[in-house]
Amino acid sequence: MQNILEIKGLNISFRLEDGVFKALYNVNLSLERGKILGIVGESGCGKSVTAMSVLKLLASNAVIESGEIIYHGQNLLELSEKEFQQVRGSKIAFIPQDPLNSLNPLYTVGDQIIETIKFHRKVSAKEARRLAINALKDVKIPEAENRLKEYPHQFSGGMSQRVLIAMALSCNPEIIIADEPTTALDVTVQAQVLELIKEIQRHRNTSVIFITHDLGVVAEFCDYVAVMYAGRIVEYSDVRTIFKNPLHPYTRGLLESLPAENKKELKVIKGQPPSITESIPGCVFHPRCPHRMEICDKEPPELTAEVAAHPVNCHLCR
Ligand code: SF4
Repeated sequence: MQNILEIKGLNISFRLEDGVFKALYNVNLSLERGKILGIVGESGCGKSVTAMSVLKLLASNAVIESGEIIYHGQNLLELSEKEFQQVRGSKIAFIPQDPLNSLNPLYTVGDQIIETIKFHRKVSAKEARRLAINALKDVKIPEAENRLKEYPHQFSGGMSQRVLIAMALSCNPEIIIADEPTTALDVTVQAQVLELIKEIQRHRNTSVIFITHDLGVVAEFCDYVAVMYAGRIVEYSDVRTIFKNPLHPYTRGLLESLPAENKKELKVIKGQPPSITESIPGCVFHPRCPHRMEICDKEPPELTAEVAAHPVNCHLCR
């Protein structure tokens, strides 16, 4: 299968008041054409930093220390902001987490979609309007033509998220990066929005990087999953393998904390993930790991390479 995007050896730090602290450690990931890659982990694990680095939307205090993000043979990290504007939005689009704060309340929904289309495509105002109506229809917003004239506050949370999806799709991108796109929505609306993204992804053969803290959503939605902890990928595989044969104790903990019909009680992973400023010797998960061994607080494990399709970062898997 052809990779459309490859992240290679990405190391990113942040400059904070007390010094420079590492946020991503040697992240390697690939995204196949027409597939959905889930990146899962708790808050602060580095999943959003990974996604934002692909969009070149990192905070100004971020330092990319090394690595490459290869898209169509080109290292995106080497492009200037002006060059990258040809990619962001048109080739690689973004669906943000919070629909209500992502739309400009002062402009109609139509103005915002039309402006996006005109920025990326050389089309007339009339054609941009036609494409905007089609984009709203594609995300199943009824009476699309009329709703184009309305302001964001006239849309519910779920409908606002559909508008953002329409905006992301309006330039027919090859890759969509969705950062917890349903977190701010009610449970029933969440399912509808996920189903919609999946339907469009299948129909257009788009590739998706899907950021989430919820392994349950990954099971429903993704083809591959990278589990992140403290800025590292600790396990990677296709979704079926991860659910059938999770190897890293952190992945197992996440799975055990998922609600299920026959489960009497949910287990939780004890403790908290480390902050970016904490330095933990050995395996970063050892303070929370129920399987820790003598070696674990002394030597950091390496990501295993024996089974290339299912690498794991744990001394148990040596
Ligand atoms: Fe647990 Fe040790 Fe594996 Fe870390 S290396 S996850 S502490 S068993």
